[in-house]
Amino acid sequence: MAKPMSAYKFDLLVIGSGPAGESAALNAAKHGQQVAVAVGHTMVGGSCTHSATIPSKALRQAVKSLVRYNSNPIFRAIGEPRRLSFQLLLQNAETVIRKQVAMRSQYYAKNRIAMYFGTASFSGPNSVSVTLPDGTAAQAALEYYDVAGKTGTAQKAGRGGYMPGKYFSSFIGFFPADNPELCISIVLDEPQHGYYGGQVAAPVFRQFAELAANHLNIRPDKTEEPTPSAQMAAHRP
Ligand SMILES: Cc1cc2nc3c(=O)[nH]c(=O)nc-3n(C[C@H](O)[C@H](O)[C@H](O)COP(=O)(O)OP(=O)(O)OC[C@H]3O[C@@H](n4cnc5c(N)ncnc54)[C@H](O)[C@@H]3O)c2cc1C
Repeated sequence: MAKPMSAYKFDLLVIGSGPAGESAALNAAKHGQQVAVAVGHTMVGGSCTHSATIPSKALRQAVKSLVRYNSNPIFRAIGEPRRLSFQLLLQNAETVIRKQVAMRSQYYAKNRIAMYFGTASFSGPNSVSVTLPDGTAAQAALEYYDVAGKTGTAQKAGRGGYMPGKYFSSFIGFFPADNPELCISIVLDEPQHGYYGGQVAAPVFRQFAELAANHLNIRPDKTEEPTPSAQMAAHRP
């Protein structure tokens, strides 16, 4: 049986951070409830932000702007019609998505809503467990120790706001989870191949942790398969 990493109690647990989940969570928090959200993706916003409304409308808007530009007689008179590569269109959509994620993350933070990144499933009538997104747990897992850890993916701020495509990606973890001896924090400044903390920082954590554990001769604690679960108990209001 999977061992829970941590257990917390909330008045309301919302599953999913799309428009519906966001609205429910913010509403409950503004009415004084202790609220948590299980975010299906590695970032808030739901399918709406990451694969549905926002990307489709960002792509459509970019294409419409280009068509409007190319069909405007003033611009037609000064040169050939302009073209946008598919790559550029995707980059533009990605920028819009990042802005949405940053804005929505602030809503949750301001309202002190606890965020759990992963897939929620009921583990009892009043309890829900959240499994980390695919790959994150495995990327940080150590062969001989249970690890407790947290990923971080934060867009860098510059003059005038967030800088598109620039991130701090991090993973902080300690082990053995039940009787910690070592805590390691990995922070990558503008990683080049991917930017989710779970993708780029967690593997670095694992490499450092394995070396350090070996060097410090930390006693192995693992008695079962790595557990990527964080369990939350929601009590009846
Ligand atoms: C291509 C496309 C274009 C669209 N364009 C428009 C538009 O222009 N205007 C419009 O009004 N609507 C549009 N829609 C519809 C709109 O996106 C949806 O109505 C809206 O996203 C629904 O919001 P929601 O909060 O219910 O769910 P979602 O946005 O789908 O969010 C639900 C979230 O819950 C998460 N989740 C589910 N199960 C779990 C679990 N067990 N644990 C943790 N997380 C979980 C999912 O991963 C997801 O992130 C479009 C949809 C698509 C596909």
